[in-house]
Amino acid sequence: MLEKKLICTACGSTFSLRENLARCQKCREPLEIEEFISKNIDTEERSDIFKRYKSFFPFQSSCSGLSLGEGMTPLLSAPSFAEKYGVKEIFLKNETVNPTWSFKDRGTAASIHHAIELGFRRIGTVSTGNMAASVAAFGARAGLETTILVKGDIPSEKLNPVAIYNARLIKALGDYDRLYEESLRLGERYGIYFMNSDVPFRVEGSKTIAFEICEQTEFNVPDFVIIPTSAGGNIRGIEKGFREFYKSGLIPHIPTIVAAQAEGCAPIARAYEKNSLTIERFPNPHTVAHAIENPFPPSGNQVLRMLHRQRGVAVAVSEESIYESQLELAGMGLFVQPASAVSLAALKKLRQTGSISSEQRAACILTGSGLKYTAVFDAYNLNAEECLIDDLEKLLAVK
Ligand SMILES: *Cc1c(COP(=O)(O)O)cnc(C)c1O
Ligand SMILES: [Zn+2]
Repeated sequence: MLEKKLICTACGSTFSLRENLARCQKCREPLEIEEFISKNIDTEERSDIFKRYKSFFPFQSSCSGLSLGEGMTPLLSAPSFAEKYGVKEIFLKNETVNPTWSFKDRGTAASIHHAIELGFRRIGTVSTGNMAASVAAFGARAGLETTILVKGDIPSEKLNPVAIYNARLIKALGDYDRLYEESLRLGERYGIYFMNSDVPFRVEGSKTIAFEICEQTEFNVPDFVIIPTSAGGNIRGIEKGFREFYKSGLIPHIPTIVAAQAEGCAPIARAYEKNSLTIERFPNPHTVAHAIENPFPPSGNQVLRMLHRQRGVAVAVSEESIYESQLELAGMGLFVQPASAVSLAALKKLRQTGSISSEQRAACILTGSGLKYTAVFDAYNLNAEECLIDDLEKLLAVK
């Protein structure tokens, strides 16, 4: 692994992969691992994504025994949606079937692999949701000392699904952005590998979403890939995955990358509209799409640079359209989080504005499971009919 370098996404400075760095030591912008160019996919390997795509990772050992079965998720075609919205094809990448029910498992597994190769015995993260559960679960699997830092005011509905994995859980009172930076600083000092939302190996893990989409479409990739975006780690990984396959000559073009946000917290979409390459803190964030409610995304600037370079798009959708899309997806059998429904809402909006034509194909990334956030049930009129058993026949008798 050691010949690949970490490159600063802003100033181009390079650093060694032997160090566990999350930020450029000169300009504090995110780092990215040098591109991997290869035509080598181990198509016989059907369960371990890090073995299947081995030539696209810098790992030296195979580190088996760390996997919980992350990745290799289905890409479903949704002809009913394609017909309804007048596009050629709509794909749904179902990340809800990951071991802790979100795509975060891919980046967690990649980061733990790196941590172990560097000799770390202590890992951690800062999160209030899916990433916390993911790191707690994979830390338990790997037998590492795992510390999860959460906001002081986290509701028990969110805390308990993390606590169940028996990691060390610390509620830290104070400013969340500061907690993020403090964790990286203390991690460096005390040898704790903090795998926060946009660390380089989390981005590497997310690459595999793109790799799988390429393979699942027989390398005839969709025109658009729509990604609910918060910190920016996942969208960076997906773009890097397509870029690596493109440069390797495996796909004819890179799909248009779409950063999808909620209007209630849209720092990236707002900067994009203003043609700015710098994120500003989004004031008073509020959206039902909690998993993407980051008002000051750590990879925000890099996402803007990437969208600019790749002619990507950023779009923000209304709360109403998020709820509507969540119900629509459930109506075809997929119960996703509100944050994940943002991808379908964005597709509809881009179709309405003509950005996606009737001849084009789009993939929505369904980032996480709806069961993670059951409070949303209150927003819907979900009810059941009721009757005495004796009256059941009357209800069912209609032919
Ligand atoms: C983390 C998360 C996102 C956002 O990913 P980023 O890498 O932070 O941009 C989107 N949806 C779900 C369900 C998530 O857990
Ligand atoms: Zn730099």
